[in-house]
Order: sequence, then structure tokens, then C-alpha cells
Amino acid sequence: FTVPTPVNEPVCDYAPGSAERDSLLNRLGELAKTQHVLDMHIGGKDRRGGGEEIKVVQPHKHAHVLGVAHAATSEQAADAVAAAKKAAPAWSRMPFEDRAAIFLKAAELLAGPWRDTINGATILGQSKTAMQAEIDAACELIDFLRFNVHFAEQIYSKQAISSKGLWNRTDHRPLDGFVYAVTPFNFTAIAGNLPTSPALMGNTVVWKPASTQLLSAHFTMQVLRAAGLPDGVINMVHGPGPEISDVVMSDKDLSGVHFTGSTAVFQHLWKTVGTNIANYRSYPRLVGETGGKDFIIAHESANIDELAVAIVRGSFEYQGQKCSAVSRSYVPRSLWEAGVRDKVVQMARDVSYGDPTDFSNFGGAVIDKRAFDKHTALFDRVSGDDSCEVLAGGTADDSVGYFVDPTVIECSDPTHELFHTEYFGPIVGVHVFEDNAFDSVVNQAADIAPYALTGALFATDREVIGRTSEALRFAAGNYYINDKPTGAVVGQQPFGGSRGSGTNDKAGSWQNLVRWVSPRSIKENF
Ligand code: GLU
Repeated sequence: FTVPTPVNEPVCDYAPGSAERDSLLNRLGELAKTQHVLDMHIGGKDRRGGGEEIKVVQPHKHAHVLGVAHAATSEQAADAVAAAKKAAPAWSRMPFEDRAAIFLKAAELLAGPWRDTINGATILGQSKTAMQAEIDAACELIDFLRFNVHFAEQIYSKQAISSKGLWNRTDHRPLDGFVYAVTPFNFTAIAGNLPTSPALMGNTVVWKPASTQLLSAHFTMQVLRAAGLPDGVINMVHGPGPEISDVVMSDKDLSGVHFTGSTAVFQHLWKTVGTNIANYRSYPRLVGETGGKDFIIAHESANIDELAVAIVRGSFEYQGQKCSAVSRSYVPRSLWEAGVRDKVVQMARDVSYGDPTDFSNFGGAVIDKRAFDKHTALFDRVSGDDSCEVLAGGTADDSVGYFVDPTVIECSDPTHELFHTEYFGPIVGVHVFEDNAFDSVVNQAADIAPYALTGALFATDREVIGRTSEALRFAAGNYYINDKPTGAVVGQQPFGGSRGSGTNDKAGSWQNLVRWVSPRSIKENF
């Protein structure tokens, strides 16, 4: 093996008075006062979209416009496909070490001179706190880039058995076409990983970032360029997904889709592939991470303090907008009454959401008006519902930013929408059950939601841990015992789920990268 063995990028805590905090604050000030030109990037050139205007604002201060982008026209989307196809032969023939060096260099740039910029853009544009930005835009993105190189090398090194007079070998080709990457607003790291992982394996890419993540996507593209990414390898187009997707996905050379976002959109993309299937040269690889209804289930043997903290951190960090965020909790009555209720409610009330450039805030705003409205509509529904009691929050205010208060709703009906509908925000439904009903509650929780992304069990009784983990075997792709179900670390907990949560091709592992190669088996007789 020739590439350096990766270690996880250390997390900087931006402690008060530290040089790192001063430097980040300084960069935040510069980024906030600039009107950013958020062009697309096609075939190595910045291109202004010819379509509708997309205003990029600070979610916590929506009057503050950070920059303006424009959607691609159909012709520009087709140009991006053409640029990807043009760049493919040279890129696919470039030696792995040379491709790898570009992404390793991008990781070095993000770890050093670009760290404040990528974090600052994520804080302002996606309303993350410094800590949430640091573990995403800096550390996780750096980890994806470094670990993917390491995993790719392992894939390339796998060869078949040979014998006397015969040499079998495997040519790990890229896919025969281009890959379409469609990325979400909530993680700068995911937006960076989805186009770069197929590219590392020798594919060229059309990348459509979410319209609410364009500031950090813009800088990610700049870092990749600064690291030496050749023209046309990753082509970034803006705009409303359906229009762009129709053009890109009707091309006969579409060979893969790398997606993170909603279940509904992924199902739409899958159907589009189905409709066009006879026109493609290859069967496109479909890799998607979609919705979640992530849970914490507690047994009476659980530690009360750890459980309460996990419910609050899991539900309310980054305003509940991680795919992995806790949105339903099941707590036995003995623990609930012995302190979990009081602790969770008190901590939820103490959580301060505000402008994340004020580092004393625990969180910021939800991403946009649509997300805000979804939450207020839920509050209206539960306010007249006898099975629900709002213990904290249930309030929201969008006068300055899209603020939804941390909300805890106790609900006696375990079949309520609170336990199977995804809201993607700072709301947790709590079902309190009689201690002796634990097993039946586990079985119901395992199947009530159409998702299976993350989940956690809190218990100290070893026998309970064993049998419950078995009962929850297919309920989560990332399963935690005595920890909150958010914050997977690249190289440690490969991330992804099944059922309505995706194809479970584990981001940050060889299982994902292997989807972007199409091996050729070669047999040679001597
Ligand atoms: N990997 C992240 C975590 O474990 C969540 C990623 C997502 O939101 O898609 O918290």
C-alpha cells in the first residue's frame, strides 16, 4: 500500500480566547459582508445560470442575502453532461495515485488554509454552530477525502487467484459513463463526498447541490480546483432538481446516481431511471441515503442522566436536521418519573437557538420557510389532540430567522404520526410505557416507521441488550447501545440505512466506493 494510513481529523473546540476562535470570527465577518457570486462550474469554467434567480440567505437572519445564484437552463444542464463525458477518457486513464493526490491535497487545504472559509460558509449559509460546522465541513469532509483514498486502494489491490501458466487479474474500471450526484443542505461533508467518491474511482460527475447549501458548495468546488481537479471531472449545476434531473437522467451514458435527500425525491429519480431504462447503455447504479425516523428506546436498567442527555443532544443539535436525529423516544414510566422527564424538559427549555455567529448559542434556525411551515402546521395539529401534551417548545417565530423552538411532545398513542412521520426539525415525540411492556414496545417501534436509518438502545442489563438488539436488527443501519444515534465518524461507524432510508451503501467505507467501479476480469494464458 502506498497511501498514508488515515487518522480522523482532530476536532478544534474554538475555545474562548483561542487564536482559532479569533481567526474563525474574523473570517465570518468577511464572509458575511461579501455579496458572493455563486456561479455554476462546467467544464472547468464558471458559468452564470441562465434560469431563475436563487437567493442564498442566512436562515437565522433571512433579510441578509449572502449571494445570488441562477438555475441552469436545460442547455446548460446538457453542457454539464457533455463536459463530464468529454473529460471521462483522460480521467479514467489517470493513474490512481494521481487522482488520489488531488483529493488528499484537497483534504490538506481544508485542514489548513480553507478551514475557516468552509466552516464560516456552513455557519452562515446552513445555520450551524461553530462546533456543528467543525465536525461536518472540516473534520468529516477531510475524513471522507482521506479515508476514501485508503478504501479505494484496498479495492484496487484485490486480485483473483492465478496458477501455473495462467494469470487472472481484475481491472477495476470506472463505470462506463458519468455519475449524477444530488446533494442535501444539511451536511457540507455529504455534499462534498457524493461527487468526489465516484470521481476518486475514475468517474466524471455532474453535481447538483441543494439550493440552500450553495455558499459552502461554492467553496468546496474552489478547494477541489485549488487541489488540481482537472476540467470537467466534477461539473456543478444549480437549480430546481426536477428540471435538471430530467435533462441529466435522459442521457444514455448515465451510469450512476449518488443521492442524499428525501425519500420522495429518491423514489422519483429511481422511477425516472425505470422510465428511461431501455435507452441507457448500462444499468445505472443507484445509491441513495434518504429519510429517517430515528429512535431512542430505553429499558428500566438504563442510566437516567445519560439517557436524558442523549435525547436532548440527539434531538436538538443542528435543530434536528441530521438524517440521524432522534425524533421519537420510548421511555419506561419508572425512569420517566424518576428524573428523565424533568431533565429532558429542563434541558430542552434551556437550549438557546439564535444567531450561530454568537458562539454561546446551542443552535440556529431551520433551513427555510418551507421547513418552518411544516413545523408550525404540526404544532397546530397536536394542539387539539388529546393524546399529546407539549412539554417544551411548540412555538416558533420567523420574524428574523426561521426559528422553531426545541419541542418535546409526550404522546400516549404509539401509532401517532409523531412516531412514524419525518419532520426533519427539532421535535421529539416521547411515548412513556409501563416497564413490563418493554418487549412489545420494542417490537412495535421496530416496524411502525417506514424507515431504518439510526436508532439507539439504552440499557445496562446484558440479557436485555442482547435480545433487544436482535429484535431491532432491521430497524436501523446505524445502531447505538448507550449512545445518541447521531455523529457517525468516518472509518469508525460507516453510515447508512435500509427500508425507506436508502440503499445502505455505507458512506465513508469501501462498500460505497465499490459501487463506483465495474470490474473487468482478465484471464491470460502463458
Ligand atoms: N452521518 C451523520 C450522523 O451520523 C448524519 C448524516 C445525514 O444527516 O445524512 O449524524
